[in-house]
Amino acid sequence: MTFDLYMPAQVHSGDGCLSRHFSLVSALGSRCLIVTGHSGARLSGALRDFEQLCAQNGIQTAQYDGIPENPLCSRCSAAALAAQNHGAQFIVGIGGGSVLDAAKVIAWLAANRAEDIDGLYARRLPNAPLPCVLIGTTAGTGSEVTAVSVLTRDADGRKVSVTDARCYATLVFADARYTASMPPSVAFSTALDALCHAAEGYLSPQCDDTTEHFALKAFELLGQGMPSLLTDTPDDTARQALLYGSLWAGLVINSKGTAFPHPMGYILTEEFGIAHGAATAAFLPALLQRAAVHCPQKLQRLQAAFGASLPDVLQRCILPDVVMDAQRIQGYRARLTGCKHYERTPGGFSADEALDLLTQLFLR
Ligand code: NAP
Ligand code: FE
Repeated sequence: MTFDLYMPAQVHSGDGCLSRHFSLVSALGSRCLIVTGHSGARLSGALRDFEQLCAQNGIQTAQYDGIPENPLCSRCSAAALAAQNHGAQFIVGIGGGSVLDAAKVIAWLAANRAEDIDGLYARRLPNAPLPCVLIGTTAGTGSEVTAVSVLTRDADGRKVSVTDARCYATLVFADARYTASMPPSVAFSTALDALCHAAEGYLSPQCDDTTEHFALKAFELLGQGMPSLLTDTPDDTARQALLYGSLWAGLVINSKGTAFPHPMGYILTEEFGIAHGAATAAFLPALLQRAAVHCPQKLQRLQAAFGASLPDVLQRCILPDVVMDAQRIQGYRARLTGCKHYERTPGGFSADEALDLLTQLFLR
């Protein structure tokens, strides 16, 4: 039996949690930079709510709305510079995982030399980050409760994570109403990401009691919410199940990290423009097949917790439009060699198996 856990962000959830707990935001200072993507923050209603509360509480805001999906390092530096120019005392990220990941590093860069991406990756920035507030508008990444930010390097377009305890948010507001405006494809892809997080951590040979508990809760909630994404628009109850499921799944990867679907999914995002969740989930059926061989009882518990819609969900993980030739697949050998994620895979994993899987799924 074990009970190992570290997740220092203060999380508040439920309808209206932001206004109910806004005194916690006011306590962080009187000037902030709001970081967003193009339109999701506005469409979700979260930006309007936050700006209104700031106006009522005498907080001077500036906005940086230039964070793209799979955020570029250079945009994070630009936002950190904007924070410095505004004299921001704290950073607020309003958006999906891309914005939340960006906000966490912007808070750190803003307290240092804003351009110092090498220092960020080396985790050698001298000053502690500014406080960081996150308001999620997707139900997927669990970035709210992880110490990870996944950025895209400008030089080569590769997705590379920064993982450091200083990346944790200070305050998190999780209000499922802000996820209602997601287009159906974003809602489905982000839910798949959460399912992958729970499955990858749960099936890892390194999974411990705490992580198992978080994962089974995530499967149960995602299994309640995801059927509505297959056929219909989620109602309030389903949206809450999806958001809370994504947070429990975030706690899973916060403790145990991800397995091979994540690094393999990055290839599909970088080179084929597939959204992160859908890209990762392309490899989920293969992970579950390995679990059937190496840990069948755990797989049965996962299936029982998620419920009857799992086969339909897995059917939707197939990506018929991704096509690779043999030379291209062999070209991925170097980047798929020696990934730390392989030891988190039931039965282990290797570059040869990764290339075989790409061949099986995408060679046409
Ligand atoms: P996302 O990339 O943040 O957003 C996808 C799209 O959805 C964007 O076009 C965004 O618009 C839009 N959108 C978001 N919320 C919306 C809303 N409520 N209404 C309307 N549109 C909305 O998607 P994501 O899947 O949440 O995040 C993916 C990123 O998170 C990837 O970079 C991935 O690598 C990373 N990730 C991080 C962790 C971690 O532990 N830190 C874990 C898994 C994944 P706008 O651009 O206009 O906002
Ligand atoms: Fe993910």
